[in-house]
Amino acid sequence: MERHQITGHTELIGLMAYPIRHSQSPATHNAAYEKLGLDIVNLAFEVDADDLEDAIKGLRALKLRGSNISMPNKTIVHKYLDEVSPAAKLCGAVNTIVNKDGYLIGHNTDGIGYVQSLKDNGIDPTGKKVTIVGSGGAATAVQIQSALDGVAEMSIFARDDKFKDNAIETVKKINENTNCKAVFYPLEDLDRLKEEMASSYLFTNATGVGMKPLEGITYIPDASFFRPDLIVTDVVYSPHETAMLKMARKAGCKTMNGQGMMLFQAIAAIELMLGQRVDSEYMKEKLGISYVYTDDDED
Ligand code: NAD
Repeated sequence: MERHQITGHTELIGLMAYPIRHSQSPATHNAAYEKLGLDIVNLAFEVDADDLEDAIKGLRALKLRGSNISMPNKTIVHKYLDEVSPAAKLCGAVNTIVNKDGYLIGHNTDGIGYVQSLKDNGIDPTGKKVTIVGSGGAATAVQIQSALDGVAEMSIFARDDKFKDNAIETVKKINENTNCKAVFYPLEDLDRLKEEMASSYLFTNATGVGMKPLEGITYIPDASFFRPDLIVTDVVYSPHETAMLKMARKAGCKTMNGQGMMLFQAIAAIELMLGQRVDSEYMKEKLGISYVYTDDDED
């Protein structure tokens, strides 16, 4: 492994989460710093909710430029910050802290990453109708940012579980705070799902369905839900092609997985913290990211 030459000038940016050792995030951020010629290293710190307040005090005391934040800290870290961005406030979650001379600002770049990955793939839902399934953290970020960025109509579906009220709350927030008109539907109503998908420009799975332990599974009953000009995206990044994306691709739809969202949320976080934007094409190549599935020959 090539090592960054560490000197007295080297700065540190951390990722605070638990568990976190499996995360690809430090590798992504370090690759970006290297490309930008920045004397900064990014390390993962196992920080859970009990240690978070002390860790944020440490960030202030050590004058770190900022921190990346993941679960379980995303929904509680705002308590220890000086300000939270409007999008992060609406999402109820922070994934990026920017330290501006001791003043800590929380942002959420998950939704920004999703919208930027669409644009990077020539998909622009501005002024159009979208259908998004999901009620958890990823879904909320995608739904709120899409509404803030100009989607005209959004049908949000979620199954009846402990997350369902989040989706109902998200619909309320979108209708009260943006120009987008959002409606909630139960995911159990598959006839309605089919109708809403039929009148949408874009359909998105923003649940964990399709990823381990739900790999190979989809709540879409059959390919008749997909018409060829429907764009179908998934926030799941592993496997690269979920069962739903495969069904959609075989039905002729343009599809996109969650790898782009993951990359562009990091690029946006780096830009917020350090004021510089790394070249996304370089990052895709460096990290072996291919978020548009093109292998038509595969089963
Ligand atoms: P979460 O635990 O906050 O929410 C889970 C969601 O999945 C809820 O909406 C829940 O209702 C739904 N769900 C679970 N089982 C279901 C089932 N059998 N049928 C229908 N819905 C079901 O999780 P999260 O943080 O929102 O993550 C969701 C997915 O998004 C995960 O696969 C995660 O890896 C992915 N994700 C991707 C990115 C990215 O950058 N691409 C970022 C964050 C999360």
